[in-house]
Amino acid sequence: GCGICPKRCPFGAITIINLPTNLESQITHRYSANSFKLHRLPMPRPGNVLGLVGTNGIGKSTALKILSGKLKPNLGRFDNPPDWEDVIKHFRGSELQNYFTKLLEDDLKAVVKPQYVDQIPKAIRAADKSVRALLESRLSLDNLDEVLDTLELRHIYDRDVTHLSGGELQRFAIGTVCVQNADVYMFDEPSSYLDVKQRLSAARIIRSLLRPDDYVIVVEHDLSVLDYLSDFICVLYGQPAVYGVVTLPYSVREGINIFLDGHIPTENLRFREESLTFRIAEGADEFITEKSRAFRYPAMEKTLGDFKLSIESGDFSDSEIIVMMGENGTGKTTFCRMLAGSLKPDGNQKVPEMKISMKPQTITPKFEGTVRQLFFKKIKAAFLSPQFQTDVVKPLKLEDFIDQEVKNLSGGELQRVAIVLALGMPADIYLIDEPSAYLDAEQRIVASRVIKRFIMHAKKTAFIVEHDFIMATYLADRVIVFDGQPGIDAHANKPESLLTGCNSFLKNLNVTFRRDPTNFRPRINKLNSQLDQEQKLHGNYGIPK
Ligand code: ADP
Ligand code: ADP
Ligand code: MG
Ligand code: MG
Repeated sequence: GCGICPKRCPFGAITIINLPTNLESQITHRYSANSFKLHRLPMPRPGNVLGLVGTNGIGKSTALKILSGKLKPNLGRFDNPPDWEDVIKHFRGSELQNYFTKLLEDDLKAVVKPQYVDQIPKAIRAADKSVRALLESRLSLDNLDEVLDTLELRHIYDRDVTHLSGGELQRFAIGTVCVQNADVYMFDEPSSYLDVKQRLSAARIIRSLLRPDDYVIVVEHDLSVLDYLSDFICVLYGQPAVYGVVTLPYSVREGINIFLDGHIPTENLRFREESLTFRIAEGADEFITEKSRAFRYPAMEKTLGDFKLSIESGDFSDSEIIVMMGENGTGKTTFCRMLAGSLKPDGNQKVPEMKISMKPQTITPKFEGTVRQLFFKKIKAAFLSPQFQTDVVKPLKLEDFIDQEVKNLSGGELQRVAIVLALGMPADIYLIDEPSAYLDAEQRIVASRVIKRFIMHAKKTAFIVEHDFIMATYLADRVIVFDGQPGIDAHANKPESLLTGCNSFLKNLNVTFRRDPTNFRPRINKLNSQLDQEQKLHGNYGIPK
């Protein structure tokens, strides 16, 4: 063992983790013998937004199920579950005692935006499955117009929910919760499938629900959204799929920094070996490389049905990452497919022929066999290279599921497999469409580092579409800003510096960012705060590297 844990260390000898000693008496729920255990619970406060952050499989959704009354906590006694009286006694002296008492007396109505919005259409029993019918049947607040406008639901109001895209379903699901008069509002991963503008709108409408006696709880992996949304934060740590522990509530800044640090100073407890930072300086030397080759693509246009995209000509070099920023439906994926040669531009413009490897936005597993077999079939040379193993495969932690069938993988596992596959193909240009989808906050940081290191060391070029603003700015050497009318008439600007690109992108969204002094994490300024106003006055919307 590591010498710190009192019993045999469940993590092997290398993990330097120490745990609170009284955890066994603080089991809130255990699904069955030898299954996942949740210790403690997050404590919501009336009139505040509580943010939850932690790795996938650490118990966030379980905590929400318990706090919404959908899952009665068994205090670890799965074979002989306690009655509610015992449960309430267990939480005696904390705010949770009062919370559960009210929940039990039907004094608290809880509504939940579920994590997996893709499953919503199947679950709906109503005969009329239109957005209008479903929203209006839930409506018990006086905010329908505000919800429809903020969440951009008007143009899909009469559409059947079975026909909605991921982002549309997400906004519909958030809207359904926001129009209800309830006491507890929960949102499990509201930013999935949304672009930056929609994430901010969702955050605003969620915050608008706050009344002095209401509880709002949000689970979120986009750290700038979590930061913007929350009034305080509980971190969940432990061993994914084995056990999770909920910390006490911290201020937003402190909570996110604890999560990134992997260390809780007040408990002198370390739950991750390394801390995650966005400090660009530390890696700067490593990433300054000679750019020796230059490439160009011409000005192009593409018409797809009613959608028209015009692209300014641009240039790029090796050892460079270009991030595409823009609203959903402005043609980012279309542009990727044009670069890859799978879509031809209108007229007779030609994209120079380049060797391309692409990670598509949507990943549907068709491969029959295990992850290892897939890698041997598609990227054998890279997979057997020690450098690729060290730089890419190991950090993405694939060993836990490398011998599982590809078609049984979770979303986050598939995404990591898809990233490895794309980077493992020999190519000049890597097109990586939305790598953060389904990844948790920790995996996003790891994946960003892996991609950056790979591109710089291999002296290649990457074009990356990314909506997680922290990831996007970490990855980008330069950016292409997409603007115009989504789905109708859009425009891709030429590649420009992170500074000018972010400025025009953020100006359009009317938000400003600053950097956290401790770990250089970008943070959204509160609208009309002193910093927000000052930065806007100077035309300084973000704080690039
Ligand atoms: P998170 O939301 O943080 O990703 P969850 O709360 O969904 O995590 O799950 C935590 C762990 O509990 C996971 O390992 C999951 O597989 C397990 N789990 C979730 N629901 C059940 C269940 N009904 N029965 C058994 N195990 C479950
Ligand atoms: P983004 O990746 O920026 O979200 P896309 O490139 O996927 O945007 O799509 C841009 C627009 O083009 C969307 O409105 C989409 O519905 C439309 N579109 C994409 N493919 C087709 C197609 N084959 N036929 C008609 N419209 C399409
Ligand atoms: Mg979850
Ligand atoms: Mg796309």
